[in-house]
Amino acid sequence: MYIKPNIAVIGAGLTGLTAAYYLKKQGHSVTIFEKGTKPGGVIQTHNENGFIYESGPNTGVLGNPEAVELLEELYPLCELEVADQAAKTRWIWKGNRWEPLPSGLFSAVSTPLFTVSDKLRILAEPFKPKGNNPEETLAQLVIRRMGTSFLHYAIDPFILGIYAGDPAHLVPKYALPKLYNLEQNYGSFIKGSFKKAKEPKSDRDKKATKEIFSVKNGLHNLIDALVNKIEDGNIILNCDHLTVIPIENNQYSVSTGKESYSHFTHVISTIGAHALGSVIPFADTDDLKRIAQLKYAKVAQVSIGFSKWNGQSLKAFGGLVPFVEKRDILGALFISSFLKGRAPEGGALMAVFMGGMRRPEIAELSDEQIVSIIEREIKSMMQLNEFKPDLLKIHRYEYAIPQYGPESGARLEAIRKIETAYSGLTLAGNIRDGIGMADRIKQGRTIAEQFAER
Ligand SMILES: Cc1cc2nc3c(=O)[nH]c(=O)nc-3n(C[C@H](O)[C@H](O)[C@H](O)COP(=O)(O)OP(=O)(O)OC[C@H]3O[C@@H](n4cnc5c(N)ncnc54)[C@H](O)[C@@H]3O)c2cc1C
Repeated sequence: MYIKPNIAVIGAGLTGLTAAYYLKKQGHSVTIFEKGTKPGGVIQTHNENGFIYESGPNTGVLGNPEAVELLEELYPLCELEVADQAAKTRWIWKGNRWEPLPSGLFSAVSTPLFTVSDKLRILAEPFKPKGNNPEETLAQLVIRRMGTSFLHYAIDPFILGIYAGDPAHLVPKYALPKLYNLEQNYGSFIKGSFKKAKEPKSDRDKKATKEIFSVKNGLHNLIDALVNKIEDGNIILNCDHLTVIPIENNQYSVSTGKESYSHFTHVISTIGAHALGSVIPFADTDDLKRIAQLKYAKVAQVSIGFSKWNGQSLKAFGGLVPFVEKRDILGALFISSFLKGRAPEGGALMAVFMGGMRRPEIAELSDEQIVSIIEREIKSMMQLNEFKPDLLKIHRYEYAIPQYGPESGARLEAIRKIETAYSGLTLAGNIRDGIGMADRIKQGRTIAEQFAER
């Protein structure tokens, strides 16, 4: 007997809202349950004193067609903003100054970031044998193929920028599958990149330009546009004590602690690993434990605005600080250099990141201590005589970015086991399939499309 899908989505972040949008578009009945007071999850934009700043993600990468297509569909409710050319330049801190990250062969040979012997190793990379340990960490893989200075001054800051992570913990098979597959499929990163660039691409794949994106006037416009399409009435906010309960006929009820909603044929969870156990307590305890082993980086994001900027030129995407440099910030994004209207004319807006997997204690410092570190670091690193920002906001995240490490195989198997044991239950969100906004959009849409195939 066919039972019309009635779907509960847990979490109104980007993943849950994207899934709900595409499900509704297919004509399905969807109810979203959200713990917070407003939708958007970690995506929140603020508008203050002439600055438009984000307390969660600032930008994404147009890394798949799904992200582009969602923004196309939501126009004119929200408008894609591709970052200015300045975003193509990235700085890396070495010694006592910023150095541009090499973007081509010539700059890679002349940069002071890498040692001469590692530059020679990089040239020999296409001829190195392929690795055969799928559980190898990123640090091991990079040292094997490119050398230690490349790990410290290219990969480490890159990983800080994306994961606030530690290359010695992340496993490329799970954390950077595109990089992992380059070596596995082509035998080398360099050979693989050249060959892939030459492979014919469909018009759809060409949409994934890999450009840096945001949304005009802030990412909350993307959230508002999704909410507008989904319709407010389908989102139940302030669900502090949410529990899913399996009932008869492979169906589920959802209790918010205050009210109970019944007869869902499907439940899609988009919440983090740490929160899952209390929402689906009926699942196997060992499987839940394996999922909960996923580590998250603790991060403090500090938005700083200057109505008039008197420091060094900030014509870049931002600057990243390799761990070996032993500074107290992970890096900074120079937001107003590549997104329009984020700071008053002649001013500057930056987002500074602190903490991460290797310095979590910094994210836990008091506001006063954080401000004092920021003042010291920004003054010395950005050549600023006087630190008098017109905006300074600190946002801390206990569970900012998931770290797909060696426990990932067991976690993915546990997810599969729970989904098999409970028909109609999907465990999604950042516990699998990538951490970036484009990954979240792709996952939300893919889940919704599986309903179209039923
Ligand atoms: C500080 C920071 C900076 C980032 N920077 C970038 C970046 O520059 N680029 C990029 O691409 N990505 C970035 N990311 C990652 C990106 O923000 C996320 O991948 C994406 O926004 C996550 O969306 P989500 O819906 O999966 O999760 P979330 O946004 O976390 O949404 C999950 C939702 O579930 C709700 N929830 C949790 N528990 C329960 C419960 N028990 N019951 C009901 N609801 C519950 C939460 O309140 C939340 O609203 C950043 C993340 C953080 C934290």
